[in-house]
Parts: sequence; structure tokens; C-alpha cells
Amino acid sequence: VSLEQVTLEPTRLGATAREALTEILGEQGISEDHLTRVAHAAGRSYPDLLGLRAGLVGGAPDVVLFPATEDQVTAVLSACSRHRVAVVPFGGGTSVVGGVEPHRGEFDAVVALDLRRLDALVSVDDRSLTAVVQGGMRVPALERALEPLGLTLGHFPQSYEYVSVGGCVATRSAGQASTGYGRIDELVLGLRCVTPSGEIVLPARPASAAGPDLRELIVGSEGVLGVITEVSLRAHRRPATRRYEGLFFRTFGEGAEALRHAVQEDLAPDIGRLSDETETRLTLALAGREGLKARLGDSYIAARGYRGGCLAIVGWEGTAAEVDRRSAAGLALLVRHGGLRLGPSPGRAWAAGRFAGPYLRDHLLDRGAMADTLETATQWSGIEACHQAVREAIGQALGARGTPPLVMCHISHLYESGASLYFTILARQEPGAELEQWRAAKTAASEVIVQRGATITHHHAIGRDHQPWLEAETGSLGLEALRAAKRALDPAGIMNPGKLLGDG
Ligand SMILES: Cc1cc2nc3c(=O)[nH]c(=O)nc-3n(C[C@H](O)[C@H](O)[C@H](O)COP(=O)(O)OP(=O)(O)OC[C@H]3O[C@@H](n4cnc5c(N)ncnc54)[C@H](O)[C@@H]3O)c2cc1C
Repeated sequence: VSLEQVTLEPTRLGATAREALTEILGEQGISEDHLTRVAHAAGRSYPDLLGLRAGLVGGAPDVVLFPATEDQVTAVLSACSRHRVAVVPFGGGTSVVGGVEPHRGEFDAVVALDLRRLDALVSVDDRSLTAVVQGGMRVPALERALEPLGLTLGHFPQSYEYVSVGGCVATRSAGQASTGYGRIDELVLGLRCVTPSGEIVLPARPASAAGPDLRELIVGSEGVLGVITEVSLRAHRRPATRRYEGLFFRTFGEGAEALRHAVQEDLAPDIGRLSDETETRLTLALAGREGLKARLGDSYIAARGYRGGCLAIVGWEGTAAEVDRRSAAGLALLVRHGGLRLGPSPGRAWAAGRFAGPYLRDHLLDRGAMADTLETATQWSGIEACHQAVREAIGQALGARGTPPLVMCHISHLYESGASLYFTILARQEPGAELEQWRAAKTAASEVIVQRGATITHHHAIGRDHQPWLEAETGSLGLEALRAAKRALDPAGIMNPGKLLGDG
């Protein structure tokens, strides 16, 4: 159905609450418009897409608020606490874990707090290589503002075109070049967060020994503690040169070992990805006769004993001299550990399509296919076993339902102690039971992930979908400590109910 045809319940926001919010924001800062409510009713997860396609949105926010200043955010949170209205902070709306779902919890009404008007680049300190940015600024707009100054944030999640700075910080997101530039949590030096109890202000500091790091409480807080209105970020000098190359390994295990050596011997590429055998096969099948496929012709690979192997993409960024030096040493190491160099064309093909891949999901759904992704990270010593166990668990769960899946995986972020694993699941949809089918796969994978001590999410965050497994990661006392922090900052519990910390 088209978005106009989605049926919504009438808004449940009471007249006094509405009046209070209109007084703070003006008529232009509050919207009950049908399409605006629908646009804020869901994120971009597989269940979100199923719901939107069926026209059965699980509920929409009663109104959408558009504050333009931090004072307005403060006043909105105070009015919502008084009038018992739940608040869902909304950045780019690209959450794939139910993070922006308009869940009312125990409250009568729920509003989406869209931060798009808080979109200024506040200041840049070229000497310290830092930038202060408002939370609603889109990451591409930040890159455009930094470019003339010769700077970059270097944070490119696959959802880059839509994400906001505040959304990335609130979800501890990872960009495709995070091995080189760092995840967003490594880029945040300070922040301002408006909570219903007041404001937490942490100026940019390069490091501190002043007790537990409060930044870490707010980074990844998914809107349940407050609204991140401003962030101080590390910036980098814009790279003059980028070099992306492809390599082939005989097996996923061989490739993983080579990447481990690279990162532990200080020769990690800034971008390091390794597809498993299944993902490699599909990548090659989808590649045209030009470019990637031509370069990776079966005969070339087979002649060197790499048939059925795994494709890696590695990339270096920096000054020309630095890229020459680092890539030469890095590639030599990868070859020593079994890699077959394929030259730049696979790297170029990946770079050209790096933001397009996920949108294939819409075409697959059109054709009756289930398509979902999930990710984790674990230590190098357990990486192959985790890869195998998650694949098997999903295979068994969906196989038992008569829809055997294709499960593929790649390593996308490298650390000295381990790496991330990003799984893609494709299967025939079960008409009429699409959500149950999805839940079966999600549960099977999540159970195995936490049993192995791997993280329930490497970068998509907890939201609603991963909530049942957070306690396995934090322990019950850890979860209670986080809930106590929420009680201190949000005594009425209005901030994004049900997300991250659950309903407890
Ligand atoms: C196609 C696709 C590809 C993706 N690829 C990646 C990837 O490569 N790496 C990655 O890390 N993620 C990825 N994601 C997930 C998602 O894009 C990230 O979680 C992103 O950081 C969310 O940013 P956003 O601005 O869209 O936040 P939203 O989706 O709007 O919000 C996410 C969560 O943060 C809260 N929030 C938003 N803004 C604020 C704020 N200012 N203050 C407090 N809380 C706030 C929301 O309430 C919600 O809980 C992908 C998603 C899609 C759809």
C-alpha cells in the first residue's frame, strides 16, 4: 500500500499537553500531519518494512515535534514529564532494531522528537582537529561542511546518506572505514545531553582519569536517558589518496588469520572486509561480465588453486606516500599469509556500490524473499567457530520451517583482539507467518551468539529487537545499574520506553 493509505489511529495527545508543546515550539514545530506521522512510525528493520508494506503500522507517534534549540528540547522534556507523554528521539530514522518504534509503554501518548532542525556545525578547532556539531546534523552535511576545511569525520556506515550525528552516537555506530578512523564511540570527545532531570555537559577532553567515563554512559544510550543535542568529535585530515584492492583466500579461516596478523602486526588496512565462501559465490554471481567478474575469471582463480575461496577487500587512505608505504607492507603481509592479489578492480567495484547493497532488500521483498542481517563481534580465537555456529543455528531454525536459508557472512571491522561478523540471511518468505519466521531466525542466532560470549550487536544497537539478550551481556546487576542511571536522569520514565533497557 502507499503511505497515504496507511490507517492511523487518531492522535491521543491530550489538549493540555498539546497546548503546552505548541507554546514551546510554535505551530511550525509540531505536526499531526498523516504522512509526517507515518514517516516517524518505523525505522528500517525487516519487521518495520513488513509492517509498512502491509499498511499495518504498529502505531504511529501521536504528534511529531521539531525543536530548533536546545532550550526547546529542555522545555519539551519537562512538559512531557509533567503531562506523562513518552518521547522517542528521532534522527535519520534508520534504526534496524526497532529503536524509533513509537512504543507508548505505560503512557497515554507518544511523540517523536525529530532533531533535524538542530543541524548546525557549531565550531571547528583546526589545531586540535575537533569539531562541535549539533545532534540533528546529517553526517553527509557534516562531511560537506568539513571538506573545504580539508577535514573529514571518516564515519561512513552503510546508511550514511540518511544518518544523523546524534543517532550515530546514540547507537555506537560503526563506519565502513572504522578500522582506520575509529568507531563513533572512539570519535566522541565530549557532548551535551538534555535529560528530563537536567543537562549533562561534557566538554571535549583528549583523555581523563576522573573516574568512570560519563561519556560512555551517554554514547549508546539510544534515547532512553536523554537527547544528545551536541557532540564534540575528532576530525581527521582529508585523505589525498585512497587505494582499495581485492584479494582471494582459499578459505574463510585462512583469510581471517591473514587479517589477524595484519592488525596485530600494525599493518591493518583502514578498510578490511572478508566475505565467506557463500557470500563470495553470490558476489561473483551478481557481478557483471565487466570489472569484478572479468578480473576474477574462474580460470584465473582456479589455476592458482583458489576456486571456491573467499574475496577480501582492503583499503588504505592518507597521503600518497603514506598509502604507498602502508599498502605495500600490508599487501605483502596478506600475500605471505595466503592471499592472491587481484588488483584494484574488485576494490573499485565495492567502493562504487558500498551504500547500495542494503536497498536490494526492497527488491527481494517484492519477490517474496525474506532478507535480514545481523552482526556480532568476538575474539579471534573464537571467530571461525562462531561463524559456523550462527550459520548452523539459522539454517536449522529456518530449515525446520520448510524455508532453508542461504546464510552468508563477512568480517567488516578488525580489532587487535577480534573482529565483527556480519551475517545476511535470505530465504523464501512464509506467507502469513513472515514475522514468526523472522523471529525464529533472530532468536536462534541470538541464543548462539550470547552462549559463545560474543556481543549481541557490534553496531546496530539493542533497540527493541535485541533487548531480550542484553542481560546476557551486562549481567543482571549491570542491567540494574543502567536502569538506576535511567531512574536518576528520567524519573518519570518518558524517554524512549521499552528500548535498550526494556520495560523493567
Ligand atoms: C541500510 C542500512 C544500513 C546500515 N548500516 C549500518 C552500518 O554500516 N553501521 C552502523 O553502525 N549502523 C548501520 N545501520 C543502522 C543505523 O543506520 C545506525 O544505527 C545509525 O547510527 C542510526 O542513526 P539515525 O540518525 O538514523 O538514528 P535513528 O534511527 O533516528 O535513531 C536510532 C536510535 O537512537 C536514538 N536517537 C536518535 N537521535 C538521538 C539523539 N540526538 N539523542 C538521543 N537519542 C537519539 C533513537 O531514539 C533510536 O533509539 C544501517 C541501517 C540501514 C537501514
